[in-house]
Amino acid sequence: MAKAKAPKRTLESYTVKSINKTVKPGDCVLMRPGDPSKPSYVAKIERIESDARGANVKAHVRWYYRPEESIGGRRQFHGSKEVFFSDHSDIQSADTIEGKCTVHSFKSYTKLDSVGNDDFFCRFEYNSSTGAFNPDRVAVYCKCEMPYNPDDLMVQCEGCSDWFHPACINMTVEEAKRLDHFFCETCSTEGQKNLQNSHAATRHSETKVDTKRRRR
Ligand SMILES: [Zn+2]
Ligand SMILES: [Zn+2]
Repeated sequence: MAKAKAPKRTLESYTVKSINKTVKPGDCVLMRPGDPSKPSYVAKIERIESDARGANVKAHVRWYYRPEESIGGRRQFHGSKEVFFSDHSDIQSADTIEGKCTVHSFKSYTKLDSVGNDDFFCRFEYNSSTGAFNPDRVAVYCKCEMPYNPDDLMVQCEGCSDWFHPACINMTVEEAKRLDHFFCETCSTEGQKNLQNSHAATRHSETKVDTKRRRR
């Protein structure tokens, strides 16, 4: 006699006993990798399903790729907590879920007061077969014309509003942190004039501009 296809049940949520956390579709989770030396996989739960008896619970997930897992590899502008939302889906045992996490938008990630272990951010969708990113272009900053890596300190020019890496303008991070005012090379002539005309301007900031110029 033909075996009937086991009916599945869709669950609204599931409590992972090992971590005592309840997960539901839409949640972002960390999943145990096959290779324990690798970092946890980051995934978004799309559906949770069990067999007819409510056992054998499976999570239908869509993977977030880490930059090093992408075809192009990790680039300098990729943040340490950056992940790409991929088109790669999978069905995993729900008990491989190790914890919940949050995948922030790029904007909300840059506004976090502190970044916890479970905080990630995503600004690109990733096609796992072609290696293509969406969007395929992002704003670039600085003389080096790189997208913003939120792990790196940048200073903003008060003239043109562009952002600069301290190293790209011959400054240390410590020096950049101490800046009260900053004008890039292009804007510095004009910026210095404005500062001299303004009472708010301090000798301190003029010195900074001078220092920068002497170094050129
Ligand atoms: Zn730069
Ligand atoms: Zn400027």
